[in-house]
Amino acid sequence: MKITRRKSRVVKIGKIHIGGKYPVAIQSMTKCATADIAACVSQIKGLEGAGCEIVRLAIKDMRDARAIRKIKPHVSIPIVADIHFDYRLALEAIESGADKIRLNPGNIYKGSEVKEVVSALKASGIPLRIGVNSGSVKEAKLTMADRLVKSALDYMRMIEKLKFYDLVVSLKGSTVLDTIDAYRKIARSCDYPLHLGVTATGSPFRGAIKSSIAIGALLLDGIGDTIRISLTDEPKEEVLAARGVLESLNLRRFGPQIISCPTCGRCSVNLVDIVGDLEKKLSRSNLKNQTVAVMGCVVNGPQEAKEADIGVAFGKNEGLIFKKGKPFKKVTPAECVKTLTKYLEK
Ligand code: SF4
Repeated sequence: MKITRRKSRVVKIGKIHIGGKYPVAIQSMTKCATADIAACVSQIKGLEGAGCEIVRLAIKDMRDARAIRKIKPHVSIPIVADIHFDYRLALEAIESGADKIRLNPGNIYKGSEVKEVVSALKASGIPLRIGVNSGSVKEAKLTMADRLVKSALDYMRMIEKLKFYDLVVSLKGSTVLDTIDAYRKIARSCDYPLHLGVTATGSPFRGAIKSSIAIGALLLDGIGDTIRISLTDEPKEEVLAARGVLESLNLRRFGPQIISCPTCGRCSVNLVDIVGDLEKKLSRSNLKNQTVAVMGCVVNGPQEAKEADIGVAFGKNEGLIFKKGKPFKKVTPAECVKTLTKYLEK
C-alpha cells in the first residue's frame, strides 16, 4: 500500500522545509524554563541527538523571549516560540531570532495585536503556526472538531486579509476521534502544511498509543507535514515515539528495522535482552534500509529470518544466522548481537 500525501504549500522553518514533498518532520518541545539557558540548550542538544528536527519553546514572559537570542547560537535545529495571551512576547521572540511563532487563536485574537505580529513576521521572513487547542475554543453549540476547525479558519481568514500566507496549522484535540475529525476537515479547507498532534495525552504508555492511533490514521490519509507525540515524559522519548510512527508507515527510515517475535514457551534464550541490546547498538548507527530479524525458535524463525537482510533464528542455546535468505553461521546467544551488527556494517 502506498500513502498519497495531501498537496500542501511549502513552508520554511529555519533550515527545515515542511509541506510539499518534504519528509514529515519530527517536532518536540523543551520541558524546562526557557530563561534557564543552560538547561534549555542541554535539552535541545539531547533532542537533536535523538533525531528531533524542530523544537518549540514555551515563552511565558519577556525573559523567556529574550533567552532565544542566547540559546540559538548553541543549537542547530529551528526554534519555535510558543506564545499565549500576550502578543508582545511574539514581537520580542521574533526580535530575538525565533524561526517560527506559534499563536493560539483562543487567547490572542484582537485584530490590532495579530496585525502587529504579522507585520513583524513579514519583516523577518518567518512563518506562523496557528495552533488551536481543544482547551481554548468556545462556540459550545458545535462539536469539538468543528470548534477547532472554525477557530483555525476564522484566524486564517483574518491573517490572509493581511496578505500573509506563510502559515502552518494545528488543531489538537484531547481525544483521538476529535483530533482525526478536525484534521480531516481542515485538510479539505486549506492547503497549508499541517502539524499533527494530540494534546494532553496522559502517561507515556497511553499517550504513545493515543497519539500513534490519531497521527497514524491521519498520516495514512496522507494528512500531516510535521508531527509531535506529546508525552508526559522526557522530551527525547517523544522523538523516539515519533520516529517509530513514521517508520511503521514507511514514511521515513532512520536506521535498520528490527523485527522480532513476541517469544512464547518455545523460546529458550533471553530474546528480550538480545533485542534490547541490538536496538541500542543500531540506534547509534547510520545504516539505513536494512531489515534484521530476531526470532526465538525454529517454528517461524527461519522463514522470517530468511526474508530479512540478515536474521537469526534461535534453537536450543544457539542461533542460526541467515544472510540474504541463506544459512550463514551459528552463534551463541552471547555473541549474536555483535555478529549481526558486524555483518550489517559490511
Ligand atoms: Fe514462539 Fe517461535 Fe513464534 Fe517466537 S518464533 S513467538 S518463539 S513460535
